[in-house]
This record gives sequence, C-alpha cells and structure tokens, in this order.
Amino acid sequence: AYNFNAGPSALPLAVLQRAQQELLDFRGTGMSVMELSHRSKEYDEVHNRAKQLLKELMNIPDTHDVLFLQGGASLQFSMVPMNFLTDGRVGNYVLTGAWSEKALKEAKKVGETHIAASSKEENYAYIPANESIQLSEEAAYLHITSNNTIFGTQWNEFPDADTDLIADMSSDILSREIDVAKFALIYAGAQKNLGPSGVTVAIIRTDLLERIPENLPTMLDYRTYSTSNSLYNTPPTFAIYMLSLVLEWVKEQGGVGVIEKRNQEKAGVIYAAIDESDGFYAPHAKKDSRSLMNITFTLPNEEVTKRFLAEAKERGFVGLAGHRSVGGCRASVYNAVPLEACEALAQFMKEFPKYFG
Ligand code: PLP
Repeated sequence: AYNFNAGPSALPLAVLQRAQQELLDFRGTGMSVMELSHRSKEYDEVHNRAKQLLKELMNIPDTHDVLFLQGGASLQFSMVPMNFLTDGRVGNYVLTGAWSEKALKEAKKVGETHIAASSKEENYAYIPANESIQLSEEAAYLHITSNNTIFGTQWNEFPDADTDLIADMSSDILSREIDVAKFALIYAGAQKNLGPSGVTVAIIRTDLLERIPENLPTMLDYRTYSTSNSLYNTPPTFAIYMLSLVLEWVKEQGGVGVIEKRNQEKAGVIYAAIDESDGFYAPHAKKDSRSLMNITFTLPNEEVTKRFLAEAKERGFVGLAGHRSVGGCRASVYNAVPLEACEALAQFMKEFPKYFG
C-alpha cells in the first residue's frame, strides 16, 4: 500500500524487515528485545545508541539533553507548564491549529497564559509572521507548533523570541535541518518520523532544569528523566528499539540534509499537481506556509471527494481522507514515504479530473 496516513504513519520498509528478522532472537540473546530487562547490557546499548544517533543526526549541542518519555505529545502539553510556568510568569502561545489550542488549554489549568499570535480567523491557513508575535510581560516561554498536522502548515523561519522557545515538533522532527540551539525545549511523539507510538522524545536545554519547582510528581518532572538517563522506571523499550532502527536508517540515507531535499521533492510533485489543476484541487494552506509533511486540499464538492478517495483506495493509496476541520483530503508524506509514492499520487491526481471531474 502507498501509506499517506497522518499518524501513526508509514515506517521505512527496511526498518520493519530488520525488526522482523530480530523479533524472536535479538542479536544472539535467544530472546525478543521486548523480553530483555531494561537494566540489561543489551538493552542499554539500544537505549544509548538511539540517544547518540539522535544527537548526531540533529546536531544537538552539549547544552541540551535527550529524554525519552511516555504519554505522547499530549502529556507534554501539561508537563511544559507544570515545569516552566512558574514564579507567576506567563506562558505565551502561538495558535496555528488544533494542537496548539490543546497545548494552550492545558497551560491555562496551570497558570497565566497569553496568545502571542494566531491564525485562527482564517481557519489556520497560514503561519503568523514573526513580526506579528507579541509577547506578554514576564514571559516564561513562547510555545509554537512547528508543523500543523491537521491544517498542513509549517514554520519556515522560527521566531527570535526574547524568551525561551518551546516547540511541539511531533509531525516534522527529523524532516529538515534545524538549529537546535535556538530552542529551550523540543518535544515530539514518535509516531510520525521517529518510529511507532509509545515513546515521546524531548530535547531540553539543561539549564531549564534549574527552574523546575520542587513539588511536582516524580514522573511529571523533567529532572527525573534527565538524571536517570530516562531509566527511572521501565521505558517503552520496544518503541525505543524501533526508534534506534529508524535513526540508523536516516543515517544510512545520508542524514537529515538528504532527507530534507527528498521531502522537498516529494511534496513538490504533489503541490504541482494541485497548482496545475486549474482550481480542481484547492490547497488549504497559503503558499508561504505550506507544509512539506501534510498536504491539505479540497475538491469541488463532497460527492467528488468521496469518489476521489474511493478511486484512490482502489489504486492502493490509503490514508488520504482529510481531517473534519479542513475537509477534503490530506496526503501525509513523512520521511518514510518514498518519492515513488508521491509521484504515483500526483499522476493519479492529474488523471482523476479527466474521468470523474
Ligand atoms: N502535536 C502534533 C503536532 C500532532 O500532530 C499530534 C498528533 O497527531 C499531537 C501533538 C498529539 O500527539 P500524541 O498522540 O502523541 O499525544
């Protein structure tokens, strides 16, 4: 199948094959990796390899630590304010879609918040210009969503905020080169570009750990993960193993720079099919905010959309139905989706109006 699901999404075939090969006997242990103790030497290697590969691939400076958590990106919506919305300061949020709204909603339960910019009035069709971001007084941090999975928009240039920048990168981490040093905290649920669901990656500038209040529940305190190498309790070992395989795969491909070029090409062929369709396919995102990960577009009406999805399914394209807040279709073209799948979809998109439009 050509898998265009928004998440969980496609994994590289080579990664799945390797996991299959190793499933029953992990590297000579006679056990599955799932059966290994998280305190064993064999698991330790997997755990540390995943951490080291992420540092290498994302060029993570020594000022930052890599943590493996659970609870998805959704738990980060709560952990961020619990850990950093302290001393009566204000959590600043840029609203660019449903996930930023959810992050804000959780922060409101913890402390004072401020909407620093928003594109809600245009159904989140664009990323607000950096100049339009207005921080509150006493900002604790500025929270952004680097890629908006549902609306299909993505930040091109990150703001130079006069406060700590925190980003939910769940749907575009590892898809392009970024300067990690710009961020105080990056977090991402793994189930798009990193692996299967079950592990959440956080990349945190370690001086932030000093700001954390003393009374937090242990499992909600970033220091617990940082001081224990994310081994305070049983981590999601199988998910971290899969993450390590995905990271090996990215390295084999030539690294994030190579992946980024490929992603530009992949999204490019689909956007071209949209732009050359004389309005048959209407893009949701404004051109300068287009996502390279989630491509959102609508068709002339509901009937045609249904037909399109049914015909697409016949040809093996799955996961193309749009989210209800945008309607129409969404093609998610994460790292593991090959160029060939995007070309095949673009070709189908070109042919479809001739026969069914
Ligand atoms: N943030 C973004 C940008 C997402 O795309 C998603 C899920 O699709 C989430 C957060 C929620 O992630 P999780 O299901 O890991 O809590």
